[in-house]
Amino acid sequence: MKLETLAVHAGRAVEPDSQAITPSITLSTTFVRAEDGSYPAGYVYGRSGNPTRGRWEEAMAQLEGGAAAFAFASGQAAAAAIFQLLKTGDHLILPDDLYHGVRYLTQDVLARWGLHSTFVDMGNLTQLAQAIRPQTRLIWVETPSNPLLKVADIAAIAQMAHEVGAMCAVDNTWATPIWQRPLTLGADLVMHSTTKYLGGHSDLLGGCVVVRDAAAAEPLATIQKLSGAVPSPFDCWLLLRSLPTLPYRVQAQTAAAQAIAAFLQQHPQVEWVHYPGLPDHPGHEVAARQMAGFGGMLSFQVRGGEAEAMAAAAKLKLISRATSLGGVESLIEHRASVEGPATTTPPNLLRFSVGLEHQDDLLEDLAQALPS
Ligand SMILES: *Cc1c(COP(=O)(O)O)cnc(C)c1O
Repeated sequence: MKLETLAVHAGRAVEPDSQAITPSITLSTTFVRAEDGSYPAGYVYGRSGNPTRGRWEEAMAQLEGGAAAFAFASGQAAAAAIFQLLKTGDHLILPDDLYHGVRYLTQDVLARWGLHSTFVDMGNLTQLAQAIRPQTRLIWVETPSNPLLKVADIAAIAQMAHEVGAMCAVDNTWATPIWQRPLTLGADLVMHSTTKYLGGHSDLLGGCVVVRDAAAAEPLATIQKLSGAVPSPFDCWLLLRSLPTLPYRVQAQTAAAQAIAAFLQQHPQVEWVHYPGLPDHPGHEVAARQMAGFGGMLSFQVRGGEAEAMAAAAKLKLISRATSLGGVESLIEHRASVEGPATTTPPNLLRFSVGLEHQDDLLEDLAQALPS
């Protein structure tokens, strides 16, 4: 089945009682036992499982082509669940420009539990190979990366991980399963902040982990149940509601991003555009091989410095200045400001999440905001 069809039908089996075409929200936290003590529908208590969440997890497993999926209360909670698969003394390797929340999670929380992290340029496989130790148990990939849109070769990195008995986990938030399916490229785990494209409307927080093999499902189910960072049934229902339009949202956002990247690239006041769909992007070839589309995210550096970048963002009328991404509305952000003092992001960089406005209106807004 094509992904557009899966997005409409996965997790949406008709309910036998009501024959409702649209899934309902089950708010109940507890479920009745049969006379013999068993649970006829398999549900016991809301933290361990809920029918609305179950539908969402089933849909995500199908979309990513995995054995099982686990929903969490945020992307950070999903990442934390993956790290909880490790034990004291284990070593993990992460990209040097990964999402700052995951970076701080490893540095400020996991380090205290004796998990050691090394940060490398994932585009440089020699550097990655040199960072591998006998204790390396996990290689974390984020591609395209945030906010520099660097591209990492998932198949090559998964192979390197497997050679030393480590797992490869991919943060697939930016690409979405519509453009990139890491499990089919050899990755063991896929993680999402479903707050972004999967939710798609900037109105819920969520995360998800999808596992390739059924053997990895049991430990994650235990972590999900016992750590308890589960999403509400209503948020799972919102995700189910958003899923059918995901392919068409990202197709439109990607087409507009490509046009905007081309416009910015020829603009005299733009120093650099980071978008993997541009033929001169250093990761273009790998992206073209492992992605079905280049996505709706791009970054650009305004000529001058931080002041010039801030001034351009301040003049935008349609595009809002806010963090987050993947929603129906276009958002722009001065990324260094949000990443804090440890940031390595260029001070003149603006990150742009392309929304569903007409691209002509977005181009007009950018043209009037950038000095001529
Ligand atoms: C937003 C984001 C996260 C964190 O997800 P939350 O839902 O905010 O907890 C992780 N990775 C990437 C790439 C993100 O964009």
